[in-house]
Amino acid sequence: MDSAFRFADDLGPAKIILVHEPACALKAVLVVDNVAAGPAIGGLRMAPDVSVEECARLARAMTLKNAAAGLAHGGGKSVLFGDPRMPRGDKERLIRAFAGALADERDYIFGPDMGTDEQCMAWVHDEIGRAVGLPRELGGIPLDEIGATGWGLAHATEVALQDSGCPLAGARVAIQGFGAVGRNAMRFLGERGAVLVAASDTGGTLHDPNGIDIAALTALKKAGRSVVSHDRGEALTGEAILDVACDIWIPAARPDVINESNAERLNTRLVVEGANIPATEAAERRLHQRGILCVPDFIANAGGVICAAVEYHGGTQSTAFAAIEEKLRRNTDEVLRDARERGVTPRVAAVQLAAGRVRKAMATRRWGVF
Ligand code: NAD
Repeated sequence: MDSAFRFADDLGPAKIILVHEPACALKAVLVVDNVAAGPAIGGLRMAPDVSVEECARLARAMTLKNAAAGLAHGGGKSVLFGDPRMPRGDKERLIRAFAGALADERDYIFGPDMGTDEQCMAWVHDEIGRAVGLPRELGGIPLDEIGATGWGLAHATEVALQDSGCPLAGARVAIQGFGAVGRNAMRFLGERGAVLVAASDTGGTLHDPNGIDIAALTALKKAGRSVVSHDRGEALTGEAILDVACDIWIPAARPDVINESNAERLNTRLVVEGANIPATEAAERRLHQRGILCVPDFIANAGGVICAAVEYHGGTQSTAFAAIEEKLRRNTDEVLRDARERGVTPRVAAVQLAAGRVRKAMATRRWGVF
């Protein structure tokens, strides 16, 4: 009993469902964290090494992200144990079986995450009619192609930079992880005059203090090559991006890349978190002490889920862009102002903002949590 409720607190989780179907080797977990504001939206992650605990942490992050974004959705997450690169027929069978097992679980709407994509969401939609992040042909808005999360990051960055009194035009940007999120954020920042001085991927870091051609680097990445194969600038190790002198440092790759062992190295005035949980809490506190402003992940990278929610409610790409801009600018401003006034880290302010909204939504429901 105790261990089954080890993740529980006053916000959730509402339900944890284990799905096991030996006939097709299906092992999967759904965590619906909180549905006070509406049915939970959260991604389906497929990986061999996921756990119930990871699923519960990610579901909570979605509760906070969706509440902060003011969406009519709670937070949830599902994980499917398996190698996402397995043969397509096997993957389709597993995903269809998992969706079928959750056909009546109306508190959860599937979305894409690591190891799944719009094709996977099309299979879920075909089985149970409840998925976002669909292909365009099924009424979806392709959020990575249009750069929904990058669009939001660019707005969060612009607002945060005003806070530190630095103009965006001419500001120097370093991007760790020049993928869908990182390069789209840079595309929108570049349109506003910001200069890319470093970008990294699994191949290493490209550094050029005089500025890197964003379109050329994007084309190179889309051709499947590493940033370090660019013919201008200096190729450095992946780690070296931590030391690059810049005004804006954007992590857009892996969790915990900024930690206690390297938080001293960042040479920037602003960190805007594109990846999920890219910095440990201790590292964020250290950045705060050093006077480096840090916009937390679930505030800065909410563009993708806002786009998914707009799609779910039948909106268009331009509605999605307008909603992302409005929500991200307002939330970033509110969180940074509150943090400044109370002398707390932006994460403390952001969690209080989001959890406060969840509790208010819970108070409107007939029985507390659900
Ligand atoms: P992606 O796979 O398109 O890009 C990730 C990039 O990071 C790749 O270029 C990869 O080479 C690089 N990378 C991986 N490990 C690295 C490392 N150790 N150092 C430097 N670069 C590294 O993924 P994405 O969709 O851009 O997502 C990036 C992050 O943002 C993930 O943490 C994801 O969970 C988070 N996120 C994505 C969205 C979205 O809309 N796609 C929304 C919210 C959060």
